[in-house]
Amino acid sequence: MVEVDALRAGYGAINVLWDVSMQFAEGRLTTIIGPNGAGKTTLLRALMGLVPVGAGAIRLAGRNIAGTPTWRMADAGIAMVPEGRMIFRDMTVEENLIMGAFARAHRPHVKERLASSYEMFPRLAERRRQLAGSLSGGEAQMVAMARALMADPRILVVDEPSLGLAPIVVAELFGILARLKAEGRTIVLVEQNTAQAVGVADHVYLMQGGRVVLSQAATDVRLEELHALYFAR
Ligand code: ATP
Repeated sequence: MVEVDALRAGYGAINVLWDVSMQFAEGRLTTIIGPNGAGKTTLLRALMGLVPVGAGAIRLAGRNIAGTPTWRMADAGIAMVPEGRMIFRDMTVEENLIMGAFARAHRPHVKERLASSYEMFPRLAERRRQLAGSLSGGEAQMVAMARALMADPRILVVDEPSLGLAPIVVAELFGILARLKAEGRTIVLVEQNTAQAVGVADHVYLMQGGRVVLSQAATDVRLEELHALYFAR
């Protein structure tokens, strides 16, 4: 569904991604792992139109969308759950969720989508009137995910959801990702939590120094080999 083809991108004069090619198959979960600074976030930002593309293509259903403004990416059915969650701390949980359905096309669906968000994240239903700034890290991550889902995206891009969270909360979040995949959504997941991220994936890419150094079906991944490559410099 999404094809990244020989992509180069970076910040001003600094190039970060070097001919990165990946495919995110429809209805599948693709995990991108790699050490700090490998370029994972930059790739997601390029995908969302937040970082200019220097060369190469990003094709969505065959059409090159590289350089498309971010708001149009949302129209194309791509939503991102950013690293660090980026929730609105001074707004309630429910107000945060409603922001995810801000585009006019989504407004008639706010009620039903709130209901399905609360069904997926019962803890958020209990805390719907609580200020988001007072939530725990796990709850804040749930708000970030539920907010992205308010746009009912076909493609969900999730950047390091497990960062800083307790193992039990991480397990819960991976359960949600598996459920979203079962619903037929296409998911692109960036993670450093290798074992769990491979466990939930259909396909795995390992990035290093702005390049793809491994591309494997999740069932073929050997974690020891992956870790050896991960730490190779
Ligand atoms: P992490 O897991 O630490 O987030 P990452 O794999 O997501 O790592 P990126 O955040 O994409 O890596 O960073 C890749 C490179 O781009 C790093 O060398 C980083 O210093 C650089 N970089 C990131 N953001 C900027 C920016 N706004 N301006 C200049 N360079 C940047």
